[in-house]
Amino acid sequence: MKGSLKIANIFGIPVLLHWSFILLFVFLLYYGCSENYSLHEFLWWAAFGGALFLSILLHEFGHALMAKRYGVKTKDITLLPIGGMARLNRLPDKPKHELLVAVAGPLVNVGIAILLVPHFWWIVKPALAQHEIPAPENIDNDFFFFLPLLLFLNLLLAVFNMLPAFPMDGGRMLRALLSIKWGRLRATKAAVFIGHFIAAAMVIFGIWRNQLSYTFIGAFIYFTANREYRWVKTESLLKSIKVSDLIASGIIIFENINSLPDLSIDANDNLKKANEIMQQHDRYELAVHENGVPIGVLENEKMWDYISEMEKEK
Ligand SMILES: [Zn+2]
Repeated sequence: MKGSLKIANIFGIPVLLHWSFILLFVFLLYYGCSENYSLHEFLWWAAFGGALFLSILLHEFGHALMAKRYGVKTKDITLLPIGGMARLNRLPDKPKHELLVAVAGPLVNVGIAILLVPHFWWIVKPALAQHEIPAPENIDNDFFFFLPLLLFLNLLLAVFNMLPAFPMDGGRMLRALLSIKWGRLRATKAAVFIGHFIAAAMVIFGIWRNQLSYTFIGAFIYFTANREYRWVKTESLLKSIKVSDLIASGIIIFENINSLPDLSIDANDNLKKANEIMQQHDRYELAVHENGVPIGVLENEKMWDYISEMEKEK
């Protein structure tokens, strides 16, 4: 993602911090100062924010490592103030694999919550029951409630991500389940429809109860869902066009046959495969072979021009 700072490389996956984090820090600093926070409270927030973003990072690695099992690489993981985002190279081919990749993220948060339950059950709960500690005025800056609050937020992350609306993981799970019967394109259309319904409900609820955060999240979900459908539509188009179909359109150039790109594609393969090879190896050109003989060069830019023309026609 543009304007992101690489902070780590874990399992070969670059971890990026989005620039808007600076805004978050400035805002929290301003808020803390205006509320006369003590050093103790500043430290609490810094530590809690760190623990929360670690939970989000682990969630994204849940997706990335499950995707790796099915041969799908992750380009990078970006941490944004509103959450994380793992960019996969492509969607897993089988619906079952897509389902497992989607569910792996929320399951990590459930796992973290389960790990924190003993602390709550054997330490916090008895202490509260015996009034060993006073019920705090502000649980959000009391060290005793650091882990219980983290437990609660991890459960909230899991539940929120299971909302069956793109780009939430629940939307992907729903699409994967529907794909088994309907195929990916139709399943996406249905999942987007349901996602729009939920997003619209959130927007209306936000306006009705004067909770603008719901309105904001609802609007975000609404527009992202559309993008998902457009992408799947493009992908099904890529699948339906063969590299050889581009020869007649003059997209495959026959010149420069002496200096062919080192990676090649067969003329009988589809554009989805061509696009995947280019993405995986970060190339913008492929040599085109027919019966093992080089016949030309396929350029990324011209390929996409052709696809957008085809999309306009449909
Ligand atoms: Zn997720």
